Amino acid sequence: MAIQLVTTAARLRTESARLLKEKGGSSQALVPTMGALHEGHAELARTAVGQNDVVVASIFVNPLQFGEAVDLERYPRTLEADLALLDAAGVDLVFAPDVDEVYPGGEPRVRISAGPMADKWEGASRPGHFDGALTVVAKLLHYGMPGAAAGTGVPAYRAYFGQKDAQQLALVQRMVADLNFPVEIVPVPTVRSADGLALSSRNRFLSAEQREAALVLSRALRLIEERANARQPLDLDSARALVESQPLVDLDYFEVVDPRTLEPLAENCRETPFRGEALALIAARVGPVRLIDNVPLDS
Ligand code: AMP
Repeated sequence: MAIQLVTTAARLRTESARLLKEKGGSSQALVPTMGALHEGHAELARTAVGQNDVVVASIFVNPLQFGEAVDLERYPRTLEADLALLDAAGVDLVFAPDVDEVYPGGEPRVRISAGPMADKWEGASRPGHFDGALTVVAKLLHYGMPGAAAGTGVPAYRAYFGQKDAQQLALVQRMVADLNFPVEIVPVPTVRSADGLALSSRNRFLSAEQREAALVLSRALRLIEERANARQPLDLDSARALVESQPLVDLDYFEVVDPRTLEPLAENCRETPFRGEALALIAARVGPVRLIDNVPLDS
């Protein structure tokens, strides 16, 4: 394998600097993940590899963003397979620190506060989740930052996030803008299986029957997307009814929101033809797992 695994911030710094110098590169990328990688993560990695000279992927299951210890414990860990997938995607370096490396001396006393955009949607059912997620993203963005390369000026620095986690992406973009992080955030479209289900490391916990039932989420989103493209009223109520007609699916929320503020755009949804930019967000519990999905709307 050409790919290299490092577990400390110090080694990450020296190895990424060495690679950047060796390649005479002028750009470095970070692809943050929690492992248990699938084709969605591979797409993030390939996009980063296509746009940068040196690509670092991180694998870290962040205890700070899990509410319940059982969820943290049962989070799948598949390091060998993850390394093979990242290697095939062309990633140079994998940073897989342990918890003590990232949080020496225990949980940090100072954290990022995600603010009001984190109170809704996923944040409503997972209190503190986005504070924990943004805190580790801030740290990872610092770990992955390239040093000044001799002769080629300050390298470009990009980080890749999936649109699948739309609220997380919006919050990371806000954090980077509001707190002046010197990094460009690059969104990558959601990767789906052929039947429409958004790929997720949680899908492995679904039975065949539950997986089939879960398809109603992407179906309902597609309905909204088709209406938006046709400049029709979105008629969110009928799309909601479709989801609620599936007995194995327990709908949490299904809303059309402003992509920048994540506030609902209620007036677009019923009688008036849809115009503008929006995001349709959905979350539901299916058997043992909570699934989220979304589609960007642009009409
Ligand atoms: P995770 O390790 O699942 O927390 O996700 C790591 C990154 O992969 C995040 O930026 C996710 O948004 C992204 N990601 C997860 N699933 C998908 C998918 N199906 N398509 C595109 N990106 C994804």
